Amino acid sequence: MSSKDPTGIAAPATLLRLIEDSGHSFPVIEEAVRLLRRGIAGVDLQDPALVEVLRQHLLAVGSPTDVTKYFSLELLERVSPERARDTAVELAELLARSPLLPERGYHVERAVLRSLGERKVARALPALALLAGRCVFPISRTAARAVVAIVGASSRDAVVERLAGLCPLSSTGGPDSPSPRELAQGVARALAEDVRRSSRGSDGHKKRTASGSQGVRAPEGSDRFLRPEGKHARQARLRATLRAAGRDPSRCGNCDLAGKTAVVHVVPESRGGTDRVGNLVSLCQDCKKRLPRKARSSDPSRSGGAPQLTLFG
Ligand SMILES: [Zn+2]
Repeated sequence: MSSKDPTGIAAPATLLRLIEDSGHSFPVIEEAVRLLRRGIAGVDLQDPALVEVLRQHLLAVGSPTDVTKYFSLELLERVSPERARDTAVELAELLARSPLLPERGYHVERAVLRSLGERKVARALPALALLAGRCVFPISRTAARAVVAIVGASSRDAVVERLAGLCPLSSTGGPDSPSPRELAQGVARALAEDVRRSSRGSDGHKKRTASGSQGVRAPEGSDRFLRPEGKHARQARLRATLRAAGRDPSRCGNCDLAGKTAVVHVVPESRGGTDRVGNLVSLCQDCKKRLPRKARSSDPSRSGGAPQLTLFG
């Protein structure tokens, strides 16, 4: 892209225009965010064009750049919590009517759906219920759990009642839009499937944890290796994954410092994060210490509005 100026700082308004001129193409959006991230120190955080670029990035659901999207998510939440929430609702609505690929994982999108549940954003309910009812896992499971969190109960009647109380759904829904009862049935289906899946998978889990390997997972796709993977072997494997994708694991993915690094999961494994390259980032010791592991999903206002680790330098 030719928008890059010699200092490496690109004005959000210029980037936004390029995104619009390109017809919102994924590569252009991603390049714009990459430039923003690099020149973030020189960007006015109050610039409305900045908010719009971040929003465009989060709504680009076909693009696989999870690490950069976390940057956009964190920055948007920092500069405008209100717009972040609106964008989250918009994203849920977009996902509910988009083609979904189960193998994609949708890490960032699921984190956004979880935040809607945690913050009890009621106007996201119809979209979340629709998404749950599509039964594409794991994203439908996350959506179903968000519905339960917002409604405060998992019973079908409670979900129907709450959905029926949302005016936009009953008044503006066209003839093809599902009724509250149909939506609630979809949520119930997703929850039932979720229970079925987790009980089916529990045997293998027991075998792996029985030998004292609590929290250590066998390498993906090698369920026959029941011996727990050691810390070093695991790091070596994750580093190899990054290298195979053309990324340098010996540089910090946050501050770009070269040196001693550890590869960590962007979405922790305890929250469904996988070992796929989009979910991995190498961090130096300093940046790793600042990972807001527990704080990320909780109310950001508690920690003064800013997450401890920002995925930019
Ligand atoms: Zn670092």
